[in-house]
Amino acid sequence: MNGIQAGNRLIAALGPADRAALLAHTVPVEFPPGQIFHEPGDPIDHVYFIDQGIVSAVAVLHDGRTVETVMVGFEGVAGGLAAAVPQPAFTRNVAQMAGAARRIDAARLRALVAERPAIREVLSVYLAALQAELEQSAACNALHRAEQRLAKWLLRCHDRVDGAAFNLTQEYMASMLGSQRTTMNEAAQNLLKLGAITYSRGRITVTDRAALERAACECYRAADVFHLTL
Ligand SMILES: [Zn+2]
Repeated sequence: MNGIQAGNRLIAALGPADRAALLAHTVPVEFPPGQIFHEPGDPIDHVYFIDQGIVSAVAVLHDGRTVETVMVGFEGVAGGLAAAVPQPAFTRNVAQMAGAARRIDAARLRALVAERPAIREVLSVYLAALQAELEQSAACNALHRAEQRLAKWLLRCHDRVDGAAFNLTQEYMASMLGSQRTTMNEAAQNLLKLGAITYSRGRITVTDRAALERAACECYRAADVFHLTL
């Protein structure tokens, strides 16, 4: 991660009494890459305030193809929609990179949200920002080039990880962005030529963050939940 960071940003935004009330009901958990938190249709029994690592919400089509819809790191919460009303997961929630979270029973969180306006407000502001990001993504996916979208996605990863390098195969990137592998390969080659990244054996290093920002589409700045100020 590229900044001072200690634990989940939503929890950190709460005052001491609300934070203590929330933390009293959370359990610290760690997760390896690939861990599935919810499959589509699963009841969301637990909500995860991410401390580190990345969890992706992934839409799964009938033919098995997948596209990432939301990326969650220490700025957010996985399964957060269940904080308002009980509901099944719409997407697969899967750990993209190993990490740690604070897990809370979803019904318990709903009770806390009802009792404590500050917790409700923090979650509402986050979920509203996420909605804005999703609406921007509809335009992004329809109108922006693969190279711009890949740059945006790599910036989002870079924001959330500790250090400049992370493990990602091109096949994985293609599945996250819903692109053909050849399209993704071409986009990655262009970013390599710009000197924005290096790529070796499934490991990506961001070598020139400014170049990566120039290569990304406007969506990275226009509506990205990571830039939310609480
Ligand atoms: Zn875009």
